[in-house]
Amino acid sequence: MNPNILQTPIDYLKGVGPNRADLLRSELGIHTYQDFINLFPNRYIDKTKYYKISELQRNNAEVQIVGKITHIKTVEQKRGKRLVATFTDGSGKMELVWFRGHKWIRESLKINQPYVIFGKTNWYNGFSMPHPEMELLSEHEKSLRTAMQPVYPSTEKLTNKGITNRVINKLMQQLFMETKGRFAETLSPNLLDELKLISKSKALFNIHFPENQELLAKAQYRLKFEELFYIQLQLISKNLMRKQKIKGFNFDKVGTLFNTFYKNHLPFELTNAQKRVIREIRNDLGSNAQMNRLLQGDVGSGKTIVALMAMLLAIDNGFQACMVAPTEILAQQHYNGIAELVKTLNIRVKLLTGSSKTSERKEIHEELENGKLHILIGTHAVLEDKVRFKNLGLSIIDEQHRFGVAQRSKLWHKNKVPPHILVMTATPIPRTLAMSLYGDLDISVIDELPPGRKAIKTVHRYDTNRLKVFRFIKDEIALGRQIYIVYPLIQESEKLDYKDLMDGYASIEREFPKPEYQISIVHGKMKPADKDYEMDRFVKGETQIMVATTVIEVGVNVPNASVMIIESAERFGLSQLHQLRGRVGRGAEQSYCILMTSHKLSADSKTRLETMVKTNDGFEIAEVDLKLRGPGDIMGTQQSGVLNLKIADIVKDNEILKTARYYALKILKNDPSLTLEKNKHIRYTYQQLIKHKNIWNYIS
Ligand code: ADP
Ligand code: MG
Repeated sequence: MNPNILQTPIDYLKGVGPNRADLLRSELGIHTYQDFINLFPNRYIDKTKYYKISELQRNNAEVQIVGKITHIKTVEQKRGKRLVATFTDGSGKMELVWFRGHKWIRESLKINQPYVIFGKTNWYNGFSMPHPEMELLSEHEKSLRTAMQPVYPSTEKLTNKGITNRVINKLMQQLFMETKGRFAETLSPNLLDELKLISKSKALFNIHFPENQELLAKAQYRLKFEELFYIQLQLISKNLMRKQKIKGFNFDKVGTLFNTFYKNHLPFELTNAQKRVIREIRNDLGSNAQMNRLLQGDVGSGKTIVALMAMLLAIDNGFQACMVAPTEILAQQHYNGIAELVKTLNIRVKLLTGSSKTSERKEIHEELENGKLHILIGTHAVLEDKVRFKNLGLSIIDEQHRFGVAQRSKLWHKNKVPPHILVMTATPIPRTLAMSLYGDLDISVIDELPPGRKAIKTVHRYDTNRLKVFRFIKDEIALGRQIYIVYPLIQESEKLDYKDLMDGYASIEREFPKPEYQISIVHGKMKPADKDYEMDRFVKGETQIMVATTVIEVGVNVPNASVMIIESAERFGLSQLHQLRGRVGRGAEQSYCILMTSHKLSADSKTRLETMVKTNDGFEIAEVDLKLRGPGDIMGTQQSGVLNLKIADIVKDNEILKTARYYALKILKNDPSLTLEKNKHIRYTYQQLIKHKNIWNYIS
């Protein structure tokens, strides 16, 4: 076989022609034979079974019947015509109906000749089948038939233009004829052996024309494995290449600052998870390669101190460090916390945000450039081009999903050699997804909370129980605690949400009158200065209740707040609910999260609420979230193209993904540039994939 035959434009396939080729290109992105052969069926229908018309049930899904057309008529309707054919198989009669394409259908139908028809049936005073797929029995017997009939992805336009599933199927047969069904192997013999995978040719044949269930399953496994394997291979080799090519600053000293802080100034004993992560970071920083690490840790797991220790290492080695947070409130809080922690060490820390005064800004710029300033904490303002460092060695990004790729890459260019990058997130991403999303980052996980934390008690209450909830709040306030009450804010209905918030605020003011109670309110429509003022009163304990939209979701730390009430909780996603809940449970007191909803709940909402009530574990919650929503809505998936998988499913094919990753790693460890003879199939396929950009482009 000519190895390049698969690059043949689809126009050349017999039966395609220019019109169909255009449609295949525009509707399915099929340009070449190769694209076409990689059009994998969505599902299969059992076509070994034939029904009798007398056996039909009103709820039959898709059925296949052999019979003859006895007459054809055109029926006038108010809205256009329809074509109706009477169809009989001896056991009964039914109608075949067309609403479009009458003329050519009528001309092509043959009376009194046996047909095989296939489609969904309707019942209304008898059975009918709209737009059946049909084929003369004589043709049907000649063509390549398999027990499981594939159903291909399609679009309305394709079907309307006559490129039905059956046509696709025929074209696929044509392709197999032209190529003799022989396709170059794309995995190495060792892999095929070790994993007992079927060959590429056999897999492609059986995915399109399954000989039986077992072979179909093998074909699916082999092709899913291959797809995931090459993605992992790319991610891992990119990572290896980065480590080889992108030299990083070598922080070889563990110096005075780090040691002094560790020995004398740690405010608490680090958890084992924190120690492990600090070790992982230290290894990276001393490896001569640029660190590019994602630190995942649930809210309250103590990421900040880890970040600080990494920054101390940078300073010990003569470098500056910066830390970027998505909001002013968060940046301020990091600044306060870190300035407090290092106050006895001889280092300079400053805060730069959008609201920094010009004089302050000027001073910061100067001190950054002459190297006097060691740590800069701030918001997006830090990313601006005019912010230049004398020698930036480490950049830390908190809550990474709030930052776009472009913003992150700005940090790469703040020094001649790119600084080390540590990206922190409290949005746990299931391991499997993280491997695909951030496969070119190394991942550290803090999977342990500091000791002494009491698990937050979470309950679900209906709006009708509001009075009881208010009583509970009063009791907690009497004990000296503070309360959050959060309202949803979703872009599309911003006005409505705003009204909900204000109505809620009014009713809370009535229920909790001044001067006994003081209430803060924070929402997106306020000026930053007003927001800060209100926030500040709550942080200082001057107000007992904080009424807010989700602006408080990220990072805010008020250890005395012990109750989180989430209004219309059914409107929040799981990860957001979990983030919000993480605002409480930061002090020594027992904390509570109360999910308020109406009685109208969808099945998914119920699952979300039940999950929240059942567990505090962010990773468990993330797994449920992934199952409920699919990867489509999870942060970051859009830009990575995890959804462009042709056959594998990132959630369902978890186990295959792990296997694929394992083997990709193993192969690259032994043969990083894939030069060994035994890996030549893999090298060739990989180069082809990159050349034809079939592998997604990743964040770096
Ligand atoms: P997050 O991971 O959400 O950013 P923080 O770094 O803000 O968490 O830490 C949450 C709280 O836990 C802070 O008040 C911090 O001082 C405290 N903390 C962090 N690590 C420990 C520890 N090992 N022991 C006790 N308290 C800790
Ligand atoms: Mg944090």
